[in-house]
Amino acid sequence: MSDEKKMESSLREIFSFLGEDPDREGLKETPKRMIKSWKRIFEGYNKKPEDLLTFFYAEGDIPKEQIILLKDIEFFSTCEHHFLPFTGKAHVAYIPTDRIIGISKLARLVEMYARRLQIQERIGNQVVDAIMTHLGAKAAACIIESKHLCMSCRGVEKHEASMVTSALRGGFLEDYRSRMELLALIKD
Ligand code: ZN
Repeated sequence: MSDEKKMESSLREIFSFLGEDPDREGLKETPKRMIKSWKRIFEGYNKKPEDLLTFFYAEGDIPKEQIILLKDIEFFSTCEHHFLPFTGKAHVAYIPTDRIIGISKLARLVEMYARRLQIQERIGNQVVDAIMTHLGAKAAACIIESKHLCMSCRGVEKHEASMVTSALRGGFLEDYRSRMELLALIKD
């Protein structure tokens, strides 16, 4: 049996466990559809930061001492503790040394790590560590605000609560003024 066929039969078992008839019309094709949607939801496993973060060297008049920030990057992720979605926005910033990247790469980096089984804190850490490592940046930050379905549909059942995490490296951690400037830029 192929891996996909095995997975389809496991999903049918889950439906039975829930008290459903996996053969009824509306559910017959659901395992196939779920597997297809997972390929998109979890496609971050097939990517590596070094493939994404193709950089170019800043030369001449490109100032190196500035904050480069991409705000409001919407993302979708899946909580590894409950296999339920969490969604929100990430703000990603860095201060370059000699290497810079196309700004859309920051969004792709968030996508890559979000489209895995995750916890929010780890996404932030992975994003800033990738920027520090692959760009040799002076500073990196990833601030995330998101709502977790596992908190609204079960557990404490709080629909409006949002979780905020702030992963900081280098200058944003060590230099109070850089951090304050970053926070002001995000708030504007
Ligand atoms: Zn959860």
